[in-house]
Formats: sequence, C-alpha cells, structure tokens
Amino acid sequence: MVKENLEAVRQNILGACRRVGRSPDEVTLIAVSKTKPIDLLREAMACGAADLGENKVQELVAKREAIGGGVNWHFIGHLQRNKVKQVAGSVTLIHSVDSIRLAEQIEVECSKKNVIQDVLVEINMAEETTKFGTAQKDAGELVRQMASLRHVRVRGLMTVAPYVEDAEENRIHFRGLRKLLVDINAQNVDNVYMDVLSMGMSGDYEVAIEEGATMVRVGTGIFGVRSE
Ligand SMILES: *Cc1c(COP(=O)(O)O)cnc(C)c1O
Repeated sequence: MVKENLEAVRQNILGACRRVGRSPDEVTLIAVSKTKPIDLLREAMACGAADLGENKVQELVAKREAIGGGVNWHFIGHLQRNKVKQVAGSVTLIHSVDSIRLAEQIEVECSKKNVIQDVLVEINMAEETTKFGTAQKDAGELVRQMASLRHVRVRGLMTVAPYVEDAEENRIHFRGLRKLLVDINAQNVDNVYMDVLSMGMSGDYEVAIEEGATMVRVGTGIFGVRSE
C-alpha cells in the first residue's frame, strides 16, 4: 500500500510542478509518519522516502532510535520549551517555531552542543484560534529577533492550512505565505535569507505546490488514515 501511495503522490507532485513550470527538484516530500508503526516507516524508506515528519518529541526520539540513520527527521508539531533539548541540534528541520522564547530555548541547547539548527517560523495564516503559529503581522518582527541567535538559522515559513473539503479554498493562504516570505526577504534582515515554504498536506499539497511550496507534508496520502 505504502509503495503505491508514494508513487501516486510523487506523480501528483510531478503533475503540479508541470502545470506551473516548476522543477520537481524544488519540492521535498516529507512523509508524515506520526502514529504509524516502525514497519511502515521502513517500508516507506525502502521506497525512497528520505524525509520523515513527526509531531511528538517522544515519538520522534523513539522512532529515530529504532531506525538509526538513513533518513532526515522533521519536527512538525507544537514544541514545548522543556522538550527542546531532545530535538534541537539533532533533527534536520524544526518547522514549528512560533515565539522568540522557543527560539531562544533552541539557541541555548544548540549553543551547548555547538551546532546550528535550521528552523521555520510557523504562521497561522487563517488566524484560527485552535491553531498554533504566529500571526502574519508579527512574523517580520519575530524573524528579525531570531536573526541575532547564532545557533538558529531561519530557513523559511511553514503553515498548517485549515481543513477544507475543496483544496482551492486554501490557495489564498498558500499564496499569502509565499508573499510573506518574499516581503520579509525584501527587508534585507542581516543573516536572514529564507527559501523554504513548508505548506500543503494530503488534501491540498498540489495547490500548495502550484503556489510555491518547497516542502509538502503528506501523512494520510502515504500511510493511510490515522486511528488516533
Ligand atoms: C499530521 C500533519 C500533517 C499530515 O497530515 P495529512 O492530512 O495526514 O497529510 C502535516 N503537517 C502537520 C503539521 C501535521 O501535524
């Protein structure tokens, strides 16, 4: 199942890229493996999945130990400051930084380990009260504050769009996130150049790619529905 699903998702990514004249090399597929057993993760890896996404610190750490190397780990969930130590400096990318206090905690841990952590700033595009992420209007200031942290590198922006029946409804949010990235880059903040847009999930990743996503986070579309 995972093999066929992955192939279908990759085809859809190719199709979306083709529609807007983008190179598929610009788009990284993150297989979101949360709640799924190690066997399925291994199956995905055997089919070429090189990037796995998890949203809980404990689960990521346990799975990382079980699997060993050979894969890039992405932390995509809400990160509590008291759990930063377990992921900071040891994952490829933290997608979900939404406050300067969290960024500073990552700085503290990475400074101890003498490593630089790539991160994204999570934006709550639709201003949903149930979602994490910083407001669009505060994003520029947060990026500016983060620019002074020497062990944290802001690589771009991430958003979790609303759940919708019709993916087209989220196009405005994906377009908005891209515009926000361009606008912040244009401010020429020292030490900041962002080129990552993590946006699009199983229901809307093709629209996200049409609007410039460089990373899509697909769970259900690869591993099937979650029973959590
Ligand atoms: C679960 C999750 C996904 C994947 O969702 P699907 O709809 O299953 O593709 C993507 N991003 C985040 C932040 C998630 O928590």
